[in-house]
Amino acid sequence: MFNLILFGPPGSGKGTQAEKLIEKYKLVHISTGNLLRAEIEAKTPLGLEAKSIMANGKLVSDEIVIGMISKKFDENPHAGGFIFDGFPRTIAQAEALDKMMQEKKYRLNRVLSMEVSEQELVKRLLNRGKTSDRADDKNEDVIRKRIKEYWDKTFPVAGYYEQQNKLSGIEGEGSIDDIFNRLTTAIELQTNKV
Ligand code: AMP
Repeated sequence: MFNLILFGPPGSGKGTQAEKLIEKYKLVHISTGNLLRAEIEAKTPLGLEAKSIMANGKLVSDEIVIGMISKKFDENPHAGGFIFDGFPRTIAQAEALDKMMQEKKYRLNRVLSMEVSEQELVKRLLNRGKTSDRADDKNEDVIRKRIKEYWDKTFPVAGYYEQQNKLSGIEGEGSIDDIFNRLTTAIELQTNKV
């Protein structure tokens, strides 16, 4: 079992790098944002509840996302490991993840925190908004609200993992391949994973 968290603000490249990491390390990708968008697409009650919250750049409730993670664990009993992308986003979510992993005797190996300037984040997200169908990437006010939610509610989670000696800061600007190399170097140095 080999489990990673890709941590960082919206637009820091978590989704892009997660795709590359799951291929290299054969991990199951869990993106709570993708799971929520699938619920919206399928027009489920959960999707309907999450839709306006997401469109406003706010976080959906801890209860909803923790339930989605628990379901994903149950659906993948033979996974070689997981990569969490966009989760946990609050201390309550981090505590719930610790508890779920303890119950399953899984270990969290490393939390990789992608560091990107705010100016670059806004630029990347507005750019993504031009080609993706994500409503929350098309409006600069919503983008800034999401970044504010990150500083208010999510950034403290980095401290939570720093206390557990699990946090690695990764420079998140530059080419996709350079950033990927920084991530794999940190993983291989810190976790004996080669
Ligand atoms: P993302 O695709 O990770 O940028 O997430 C898009 C939106 O989904 C966020 O702005 C939140 O509204 C919601 N969301 C995704 N993951 C979480 C989470 N772990 N906790 C709360 N809300 C989330």
